[in-house]
Amino acid sequence: MQASHLIGAHVSAAGGIANAPLNAAAIGANAFALFTKNQRRWQAAPLDPKQIELFQHNCNDAGISPEAILPHDSYLINLGHPDPELLNKSREAFYDEMQRCEQIGLSLLNFHPGSHLRKLAIDDCLTKISESINLALERTQSVTAVIENTAGQGSNLGHSFEQLAQIIDGVEDKSRVGVCIDTCHLFAAGYDIRTQDTCTQTFELFDKVIGNQYLKAMHLNDSKTPLNSRVDRHESLGQGEIGQEAFASLMKLEPVKGIPLILETVRPELWQQEINWLRYLAKQ
Ligand SMILES: [Zn+2]
Ligand SMILES: [Zn+2]
Repeated sequence: MQASHLIGAHVSAAGGIANAPLNAAAIGANAFALFTKNQRRWQAAPLDPKQIELFQHNCNDAGISPEAILPHDSYLINLGHPDPELLNKSREAFYDEMQRCEQIGLSLLNFHPGSHLRKLAIDDCLTKISESINLALERTQSVTAVIENTAGQGSNLGHSFEQLAQIIDGVEDKSRVGVCIDTCHLFAAGYDIRTQDTCTQTFELFDKVIGNQYLKAMHLNDSKTPLNSRVDRHESLGQGEIGQEAFASLMKLEPVKGIPLILETVRPELWQQEINWLRYLAKQ
């Protein structure tokens, strides 16, 4: 299937990673996100080579290439942790996540940058995050570290384009770092995208501050909470504070073509419908 847009959802990998591409294909997706291990645990058993083989086989059957797959790391990892011991634990776990991606043959790893937990200056925390990325890239060969923008809830960093640019600036190998823009987080962090004009302006600003070449993926979510609320609550597309026009405008933007566009919306039963709607918008 030839499609200029790679659209899917964060699907379940319950029962083994090989089930994720099956779940993606079942909703008509040509892209997907998954956890390669339990996202709420530090440790995981090594991947079973048979599962990897079956995963690749199922992706092939579904016509989904590695560039369209966006694994997400564990929620426990904080690459800017103020406590040295927990920072190390996070860095080891992040390395393990990267290694798993390499074993599976995937090229991207999506993660939340980190939190200062009110024990570290913002600049120092951003520097620690860049260093954490450098350490992981040094120990791996092929996976790109894809930093997700946050809603700026609590002490989570990476909610402004400037902070994301600062993290990238501290990364040595710029060819293996990128950004995933989550539309719900973007909006909650104060970037308006509700109309064609505001959406265009926000993405022009992205290009100016970060650079379109770093846009490696997107999470497409509406938001339950208003502009600049700094609260991360996803909603189904068109049913939240962001609204339909934003997604219609987004699908016309050049930089979103060819990168995974992943739904993390709250009603999985609507995913197929949402994917079809996005495909329709892309053709307008
Ligand atoms: Zn997200
Ligand atoms: Zn979120």
